[in-house]
Amino acid sequence: MITGGVEARPARDILSLAVLAGILKSRLVPRPLRIVLLLGLLTACAVAQVQFQVLDREVIEARLEGFSRKNDEREAILKQMFVQSGCKDDKLSEQTVKKKLPPNLICVLPGDTNAIILVGAHSDHVEVGDGVVDNWSGASLLPSLYYSLSKVPRKHTFVFVNFTAEEKGLVGSDFYAGKLSPEQRSKIEAMINMDTLGLGPTEVWATHADTTLLNALAGVANAMKLPVSVMNVDQVGSSDSESFAKYKIPRITIHSVTQQTWPILHSSKDKLNEIKKDDYYASYRLMIGYLAFLDTDLGRPATAQANTGH
Ligand SMILES: [Zn+2]
Repeated sequence: MITGGVEARPARDILSLAVLAGILKSRLVPRPLRIVLLLGLLTACAVAQVQFQVLDREVIEARLEGFSRKNDEREAILKQMFVQSGCKDDKLSEQTVKKKLPPNLICVLPGDTNAIILVGAHSDHVEVGDGVVDNWSGASLLPSLYYSLSKVPRKHTFVFVNFTAEEKGLVGSDFYAGKLSPEQRSKIEAMINMDTLGLGPTEVWATHADTTLLNALAGVANAMKLPVSVMNVDQVGSSDSESFAKYKIPRITIHSVTQQTWPILHSSKDKLNEIKKDDYYASYRLMIGYLAFLDTDLGRPATAQANTGH
């Protein structure tokens, strides 16, 4: 997260998230294997079976605890985690942004189509503090999300990007988005950005989120009985999602900052002990359910609209 004014704090929107109107009923199916979770979302018009694997919290927490204070080492650690998770060889690549910066790190999970869901987080941090909150918390989830989605075929191609130098002004994400051709950009159906997780329950920057993506998040959270609420950071910060908004790519930023926890960012307090582990694990679970749901739902014909026709 880039932060602006010293006194300014994020603002909770008076609107609560609209629950996805189409969801009439949801159920959690017992896991046939210990790590397989099936989530059935029964919608007004279609039944979508959303399938993904949940990693144990020990794995998620070990990856969080495996941080380095050095930005270049962070990139190397993430690369190793991706390889461990099965993303390697031609699926894993680095993009040089500037000679003196660690590269962007890109992992591709090929799907049945070349429609893309891009999942991003930045791993660099400012000089003070350990930068575990902002944003090792987000970056270290990328390999786990890859793994969690990789065990069943996906309709969309998922691209996971660890961005460099977000704190220097969205440098890595701006470079990545700028390098894409208009045709490549047109294939990105969603950019899902994670920045600063685990300070509390999941929050979303609603005023800078695509409405479809926002409603889907609310629907999945409701179905999974996981919390999410609105906390806007327009006045005080920014994040990598905005590098894609410039090109009108639908985007959303998931975070955990509130007015109370805002002062932790970019301070000596940004350390592992500020992470609330239950909330962090809940954010991970919500993210997997969300991504798996978007895979089934994005690009689906808008039947609700069709039904209102003549
Ligand atoms: Zn930051």
